Formats: sequence, structure tokens, C-alpha cells
Amino acid sequence: MYNFFVDKFARVDDRFTISGKDHNHICNVLRMQIGDTFLVSCEGTSHLCRLAQIDKDELIAEIIEEDYRNTELPVRFYLFQGLPKADKLELIIQKTVELGVAGIIPVEMSRSIVKLDDKKKKQRKERWQSIAESAAKQSKRNVIPEVFDVLSYKLAMQKAAEMGLFLVPYENERGMAATKEALAKIKPGMSVGILVGPEGGFDDKEINLAREAGAVVISLGSRILRAETAAITAVAMGMLHIEMNADGETQ
Ligand code: SAH
Repeated sequence: MYNFFVDKFARVDDRFTISGKDHNHICNVLRMQIGDTFLVSCEGTSHLCRLAQIDKDELIAEIIEEDYRNTELPVRFYLFQGLPKADKLELIIQKTVELGVAGIIPVEMSRSIVKLDDKKKKQRKERWQSIAESAAKQSKRNVIPEVFDVLSYKLAMQKAAEMGLFLVPYENERGMAATKEALAKIKPGMSVGILVGPEGGFDDKEINLAREAGAVVISLGSRILRAETAAITAVAMGMLHIEMNADGETQ
């Protein structure tokens, strides 16, 4: 979320008057409209505000929530998860939402044991979304991450190719050099896809298709992790990397 810094004189009651460079940035560069939200920081405290009025040289931002704690990561991590058994995906959703994912995309893979018909997909999606919602509330997220429709592998690759970076933890990959290099590429503002295989892992064809979609294949260490451990580890690794390297950035 965008964050603008003002001095205490900008505030009268629950309204901030913003002028100068920030006025230009909000109105002419970002082209925000009445009702759009952003953070205003004043004397070390951030407030969630909505754009209430735009004039030629200044604008009014009205406080929606005082002392607002932005808990969202400046990077959107999307977990593409090869469909594992039901209870495992529920655990993966709960834990990765706590860790800060922006969304979870269940993917049908050749070694997925579970096969869902359309009716089951719809029922499960509702349950998965409600798990995401509870986890978001519990962990004090500002947004509720979305659990997307179950995608075929082909469609998942199309979606993954749109990401700024597409990471694939692969059980047969050796050495941590690629992992280290990939982490260094994660920068605020990016969308990062992470594809983790189901219990049976990837078949050769799937790994090749992922590489064609631009995947950076990485290792998560010398041990074979269960699918749920791998998903949680991969998201935690990205989350901690960005938390440690993007201090103070809130966009
Ligand atoms: N059945 C496979 C393991 C699959 S583990 C075997 O015995 O080889 C499920 C998924 O977790 C994998 O497809 C991969 O995405 C991820 N994973 C597990 N261990 C990993 C590791 N050490 N490095 C990278 N990814 C790993």
C-alpha cells in the first residue's frame, strides 16, 4: 500500500491536508480517485486513509483507521500447490496464509493421488477459502488471500509465466546456489510464483514444462521434505528474505 509522510500540522481532526509533491504524485502520477485508500504516516504512526477530496493544489485524506499496522508483505507470493491429500492442503493453506502469501492455486499434477470432480472442486474451494479467512484473521493480515480454482497443469504454467519470478522447489535439484541467486532477485512490488509438487513429486515432463514457462528450479536443502513441509519452507524463506531486506518499504 502507498504510504505518504506528513508533519503534524497537516492534521485537523480526522483529516489530513496533503499538498506539494505528494499531491502531484497521488493525483497525477498514481491517478487515485475519491475513495482510494493509502497510508498516511504522521509522527511515527501510520493511519489508513481514504481520498476524500481533490482540489487543484491540495487534497484531503480522511482517516478510516488510526494507528494502522500494515502487516502485508511488499511482495505478492502465489503458492501453486500440486494437489495433495485433502488434509494436507488445508494445513498448507492455513500455514502459508500466516506466513503472508497473497494467493494459493491448487494444481492438478500427474502424480496427484486426489482427483476431484467439478462438484467436489467447488465444495473444497469454499472450505479452503474459509480456512484462508480464519488464518488471515488470526495472523492479523490486512487482506484475505484468495484460494483460486483448481487449475490444470497447463493453465497453471500460463499463470505462472505472468509472474515476475517463478520458483520451483524440485526434489532432484542439488546445491543451494540457484536458491540463493533466486532469493536475491525478489524485490518489493514483485509477484513471485512458487510451485511445489504433490506427495509423489514432479514427473520429467512437468519439470520441463515449468522450465519452458520460465521457472527457476531450486533446492530446499539436502533432505527430501514432505509436500506440506516444502510449501511452508519455501514461503517462509521468501517471506523472511523480504522482511529482512525491505525494511520500511510498504508498497
Ligand atoms: N516423492 C518424491 C518427493 C516429493 S516431495 C521423492 O521421494 O523424491 C513433494 C514436493 O516437495 C516436491 O515435488 C518438491 O516440490 C518439494 N520438495 C521436497 N523436498 C525438496 C527439496 N529438498 N528441495 C526442493 N524441493 C523439495
